[in-house]
Amino acid sequence: MEKLDKKYLWHPFTQMQDWEKEKQVIIESGKGCTLTDIHGKRYIDGVSSLWVTIHGHRKKEIDAAIAAQLKHIAHSTLLGLSNVPAIRLAEKLIKIAPKGLTKVFYSDSGSTSVEIALKIAFQYWQQKGTPYQKKTGFISLTEAYHGDTIGSVSVGGIPLFHTIYKPLLFQTYKIESPHCYRCKYGLSYPDCQNTCFVHAERTIQKYSSVTAALIIEPLVQGAAGMLMQPTGYLRKIRELCTKYNILMIADEVATGFGRTGKMFACEHERVAPDIMCVAKGITGGYLPLAATLTTEDIYAGFLGEYSEFKTFFHGHTYTGNPLACAAAIASIDLYQKENILAKIQPKITELAKGLKQFKALEHVGEIRQKGLMVGIELVKNRITKQPYPPVSKIGINVTAECRKRGLIIRPLGNVIVIMPPLSISLKELNRMLEILYAAIQEVTKHN
Ligand code: PLP
Repeated sequence: MEKLDKKYLWHPFTQMQDWEKEKQVIIESGKGCTLTDIHGKRYIDGVSSLWVTIHGHRKKEIDAAIAAQLKHIAHSTLLGLSNVPAIRLAEKLIKIAPKGLTKVFYSDSGSTSVEIALKIAFQYWQQKGTPYQKKTGFISLTEAYHGDTIGSVSVGGIPLFHTIYKPLLFQTYKIESPHCYRCKYGLSYPDCQNTCFVHAERTIQKYSSVTAALIIEPLVQGAAGMLMQPTGYLRKIRELCTKYNILMIADEVATGFGRTGKMFACEHERVAPDIMCVAKGITGGYLPLAATLTTEDIYAGFLGEYSEFKTFFHGHTYTGNPLACAAAIASIDLYQKENILAKIQPKITELAKGLKQFKALEHVGEIRQKGLMVGIELVKNRITKQPYPPVSKIGINVTAECRKRGLIIRPLGNVIVIMPPLSISLKELNRMLEILYAAIQEVTKHN
C-alpha cells in the first residue's frame, strides 16, 4: 500500500521529496477518537482529521442518516431544482446562526465558501449603483488564512503559502494581525490600551470608500498558528464595519460548530456578521460541504427582473448535495440531543489545566487556547522569543514523535496544534496531553 501511495499520490501541503523518503502512516479505519492504520496500530485523532471530526469517527446517527438518504437519492442539482435535505439543513443553519443571517448558499469547501462571500460582497455593491460602485476592494488581516483558491488566497496573508501567487492576486488592504505574543507595536497586553484597535480603524477609515468587505477569522487565526485576538477585538471590528459602511464577513470555517466553546465564535462577542462562511465541521467530518450565509438585505440586492442580470452567477456541480446535507442535519441534531456545548465545558477546563504543565518545558514560548482549539508555540529561546529556524523542522519532528507514541497531530510551522473531536473523553484528553508533553520534551532536549 505504501508503495502505491508513493507511486500515485501527490499529497496536499506536503514536500513530496521528504514524503517519498520517509515511512508513512496509512489509515484504514476509525472509531470515536481513535484512528487505526493498515498495520493495526492505534492513534488518538488529536486534530479531528484536520479540524472536522466533531463527534468522532463512525458516529452511528450520522452513519444512519447517510444510509437512509442513500435509499432516496445520492445527488440532485440545486441549479433549477431543489432537494429535501438541502432545504431542511438551510432552515437548521439559520436557526443556529447569529441573528440577522437569513439565507444559505451552499458549496463544498471552506475555500469556496469564502470565494462566494467575496463575490457576493463585490456584486452587492456593484448592483447598488453610484456612489457604491467604487467599493471593489477587500480588507483582511496579515497572517490570515481563508483557503487556497485564488480569491481566498488574495485575502490571505501567510507569506509561506501566499507570496509566490502574488502576481495572480487582487489587491487587498491589510490590518496587522492582533498577535499579542509578538506584538507588531512592541507593546504588551493589557497595558497596550488596544493600540491594534486604533490601527485597524485607521486602515478601515482610509479605504472604506473603496472597500466592499472586511473578512476576518473570528477570535482565532487558525492556520497562522492559533493566534488569539484580544477580548473586544471582534466586536470593535463589527462596530467599525458598520460605522464605515463595509460588509463584515466572518470566516467561521475553523471556529464554527462548537470549536471555541460556543456554536460560533462570533457569539462570544455578541457579533452578527453580514456574511458568514462555514465548512469543516458542518457534516461532523463526513462529507465535503460548505455554506455562505447572508442577511436579507444582501439577498435582496440580487433580486430583479431576469433582464437586469442581477443574478448571482455562481454555483458548483455538487452544491447542496443531498448526502452531505443529510450528514450535516444529523450532526447538528446531535448538539441538542447530546447537549454537546454544555458537555465540552469541563473538557475545556481540563485541557487548560493540563496545558499549564507545559509551561515547565523550556522551549514552550506561548500556549494559546480557545475552547478546544490549541496552539503551543515552540521557541529556540524563551526569553528572547527567538523562533526555531525552518530547517530545524521542530513542529514536524514533534508530531513524528507523537505518532510513535500513538497520537496523530499536525503542526503549523513551530506551533503544535491540538484540536480533538468535541466528543473526546477526559481520559483520552489527558492521554493526548501526556504523549504530547513527552514528545516535546524528547525532541527539544537536543535543540
Ligand atoms: N477558512 C479558514 C478559517 C480555514 O481555517 C480554512 C482551512 O483550514 C479554510 C477557510 C479553507 O477550507 P478548505 O480547506 O475546506 O478549503
